[in-house]
Amino acid sequence: MKTLLIAINAKYIHSCLAIHSLKAYAEASLNTDTSDIIIETAEYTINQPLDDILSDICDRVSDSDCLIAFSCYIWNIEYVKKLSLLIKHAIPNAGIWVGGPEVSYCAESFLLENESITGVMTGEGEAVFTALITGLSHNASLESIPGIVFRTDSNHIITNPPAPLLDLDSLVFPYPEQSILEHHILYYESSRGCPFGCSYCLSSIDRRVRFKSLSKVFDELSIFLDQRVPLVKFVDRTFNCDHKRTLAVWQFLKEHDNGVTRFHFEVTANLLNEKELSLLSTLRPGLVQLEIGVQSANPDTLSAIDRTQDIDHLRRVTAQIQKGGNIHQHLDLIAGLPYEDLESFSRSFDIVYDMQPDQLQLGFLKVLQGSKMHRLKDEYELVYRPWPPYEVISTRWISVSELLLLKSIEETVETYYNSGQFQMTLTYLMHFFSRPWDFFWRFTEWLKENGHIGISHNRLQKYNLLREFATEVAVSANLTSAGIDLHALDSILLYDLYLREKIKTRPQWAPDQNAEKKRISSLYHNEEIRIQYFSEFPDEPVRQIRHETHIEIFPIDVIKTATDGTTAPGKQVLLFSYREKDPLNGSASVKTLSYQ
Ligand code: SF4
Repeated sequence: MKTLLIAINAKYIHSCLAIHSLKAYAEASLNTDTSDIIIETAEYTINQPLDDILSDICDRVSDSDCLIAFSCYIWNIEYVKKLSLLIKHAIPNAGIWVGGPEVSYCAESFLLENESITGVMTGEGEAVFTALITGLSHNASLESIPGIVFRTDSNHIITNPPAPLLDLDSLVFPYPEQSILEHHILYYESSRGCPFGCSYCLSSIDRRVRFKSLSKVFDELSIFLDQRVPLVKFVDRTFNCDHKRTLAVWQFLKEHDNGVTRFHFEVTANLLNEKELSLLSTLRPGLVQLEIGVQSANPDTLSAIDRTQDIDHLRRVTAQIQKGGNIHQHLDLIAGLPYEDLESFSRSFDIVYDMQPDQLQLGFLKVLQGSKMHRLKDEYELVYRPWPPYEVISTRWISVSELLLLKSIEETVETYYNSGQFQMTLTYLMHFFSRPWDFFWRFTEWLKENGHIGISHNRLQKYNLLREFATEVAVSANLTSAGIDLHALDSILLYDLYLREKIKTRPQWAPDQNAEKKRISSLYHNEEIRIQYFSEFPDEPVRQIRHETHIEIFPIDVIKTATDGTTAPGKQVLLFSYREKDPLNGSASVKTLSYQ
């Protein structure tokens, strides 16, 4: 029997841990060499045309005696439903099964609504899937298989008792060597379950946390390290819920660091203690990335969503991590939560912005069936889209138009903050606005009025837009008595441009550097300068060094001007080197050249 495990990922760079884990577990449990069971995996994305995927599936499975199983999530469920209908027509005898969080909690109603689907594997999939394909290949009764809900030949829905929870040490390392080499990002789990009970989250339904033994975790992490996988994302819901394990895993990564692989963890800041922070401060820059869910800084909101969060502790923790300059920090906020109106959200935004994370993600509440938030939807007057991802449209506290404004602000934050392309310019401009929110709100309104929201701009156009906004709006609105120095702004924008890449065409507004050409050329040929500033290019020809660096003579002290908000006179000669970029944000390294 041929079995095809299918993942439809949100993006091409993603991979699906679930289907690989199911295949590895089943193959280790069954003797696939002697049985007639063949298990294959297939990964597609939601951006591929349905017909292309259907055609590939039809090429891979025969029209009889085959099982097709989908891993279902909030981002692909509509796609899976449509695809299943097409498969049922194209391969009428195929058994189409689904599993995953999007179908586990509503298996019966899902089957009633989707007649092309044969059954649902509920809960943890590994043992259930193995039992299912074994049972089917032996023509066993489906009623003997725990953890499934299925449709009989006479179209009745039967719900079997749930399967027992797995010992995580029984799981099998999910990635064969070839698959490791094919993916840029791989997902890994060292635990299942979450001890917390956030009211909007389905992970809060089962608070039992189960762990893989540390020795198994170390063995598996060694495989990623040996293969020099670029990025491994832990999917553990709250990685640092156990201090001893957290320290042990980070210590292991420190001791076995291959200088290349990065590891991403979702953590709660409340639990990070001094020992962990001090260990983190010793790690190679870029080795560890932390994602911290803040969600809101409003105490009433936090209490309503059953989260304990000490904002002062969060401030201290994020500041301490930032001081080390070696850990990429990603902070999340959620809009549309109870007791959070626009004013309250803007205060949460300012608090998190002031922490200066590498990424500030604005998410929107999803009202998930089965969650406590869903049960309280009437009390909170939650209006949400009736299709996945069930995102909130309005609440008792925030209107449709305010949430739509936040959507636009999210786009501005993504483009102008999270891209990291405007670091110094934002530092400068923030001096002229009462608060970060004020800047992002005004800039977003301006972009909307001028038809720039929802449009994809090239890099230089984005710089031009920010410059135009600063010129037209900020100055004319007299946002500050000091006012923005537009000449200084041009230098700072140019600094940000060169910080990210060696641009080929200078923007029109960039200060003219033609008069300095000879001087710059002489710097590259100056032996003293070469020894002192070009140490990463030993014995390399000047042509090569010029190819990977840029020297700019700024009419002002750019960094001081941006930091202080007042123009600091004095020429500044900066060397941008693109060979060894900052592992946290991809910026060039910058040196100030001092020479006679
Ligand atoms: S939001 Fe995070 S911390 Fe809260 S219950 Fe879900 S997984 Fe756990």
